[in-house]
Amino acid sequence: MNAPDILEDAERHCSKTGVRLTPLRRRVLELVARANAPVKAYDLLSQIDRANASAKPPTVYRALDFLIDAGLVHRVEALNAFVACPQAGHGHAAVLYICEACTKVTEVQGARPGQEHKPRSFTVKRSVIEHYGRCANCQ
Ligand SMILES: [Zn+2]
Ligand SMILES: [Zn+2]
Repeated sequence: MNAPDILEDAERHCSKTGVRLTPLRRRVLELVARANAPVKAYDLLSQIDRANASAKPPTVYRALDFLIDAGLVHRVEALNAFVACPQAGHGHAAVLYICEACTKVTEVQGARPGQEHKPRSFTVKRSVIEHYGRCANCQ
């Protein structure tokens, strides 16, 4: 999925769920969606217009948190980096396949891993399952 499609999808998802995709949130999502590999927060910061007073690091981190909570961006925990979700707000665990050679991340939809072991009174807010190996190009 390319960046314009991801942004269009995100806008549709936000208006449907009544959350606001502010210009900064949109810009952060765009930068994550345009990258071919998981993006680090400091890479985002360096690409955001520093002249813009509203784009100070804490606001950029808050924009990222918003995007993660809204299900538009996933954090690749082991890399401490971010990828755009190809299916905005799918509401289930993200299953990521991460190539150790080129760091290409492929997200697979439709799985609900871990639910059967969930403690009864525990509410899951977000889940990310990460698989590491080699992509087709790097085998
Ligand atoms: Zn996803
Ligand atoms: Zn690879």
